[in-house]
Amino acid sequence: MSFRIALITGAARGIGAAIARRLAKDGFDITINDLPSKIPELESLQKEISSMGRRVYIHTADVSDTGEVENMVDSTVKTLGGIDVMVANAGIGWVSPLTECTEDIWDRIMAVNARGVFLCYKYAAKAMIAQGRGGRIIAASSVLGKQVPPGTSLRSAYCASKFAVRGLTQSAAQELGKHGITVNAYAPGPIDTPINDELGLDEAAKEAYIANDIKGTVVGRIGEPDEVASLVSYLASKESGFMTGQTVSINGGYFFD
Ligand code: NAD
Repeated sequence: MSFRIALITGAARGIGAAIARRLAKDGFDITINDLPSKIPELESLQKEISSMGRRVYIHTADVSDTGEVENMVDSTVKTLGGIDVMVANAGIGWVSPLTECTEDIWDRIMAVNARGVFLCYKYAAKAMIAQGRGGRIIAASSVLGKQVPPGTSLRSAYCASKFAVRGLTQSAAQELGKHGITVNAYAPGPIDTPINDELGLDEAAKEAYIANDIKGTVVGRIGEPDEVASLVSYLASKESGFMTGQTVSINGGYFFD
């Protein structure tokens, strides 16, 4: 039997919304999560996915909050009848020199990007083990969770948080393999999403930042959210069952690994 119920965090827009659309097309019923401020975008995505004949449930929660994540997983199990796939996609970015990176910036980036992924892994794993039918746990790392190539500095907190996702993914994969649960992450290079509008940069600095990222690729362009979603579609499928503990690069050739 194929997996049929997925929960996607940070699904109101960008890569998360593309993953939700793609998994719906693959036949999944879905919980779409984001912050309460994103309810209008979530409702519009809900309409779109419902029209594809899938069940889709909105659950707003802050992924850095233990109780909210536990409740989100429990509600998905109750509302949709289980959880087969967790996609811990929500994440935030910030660009600033190390010497100007405040403890508050560090703590918030780590809270969402590292602690949030840990909480999603933990509560999804508990529910999947209790169900006894295996599962797929997947998270967003980044090209910057593997290397910090020349010219891409100024993102110390973000890079540290995305390296954390890679370590957590390997460790969780070690523990969960015996339950038929695989754990993998995707590591995108520059992808065209609104995350770039919220990096603390003015318009000119943002354009320069994106241009520099594009220059770093060998394909010479920015990636599309759908390209990441198609990788996640594979990671979420039964067919990927022999693949675990990997952080898979999808980076336009930013570097080869
Ligand atoms: P995005 O900013 O377009 O979307 C992220 C979503 O996460 C937003 O809707 C936001 O509201 C939500 N979110 C933020 N904090 C949250 C919280 N505490 N709880 C719940 N939801 C929260 O970003 P994106 O570009 O689609 O990125 C998705 C993931 O991919 C992120 O983890 C990001 O770090 C990673 N990534 C993105 C790129 C890129 O170039 N876009 C590259 C590498 C990795």
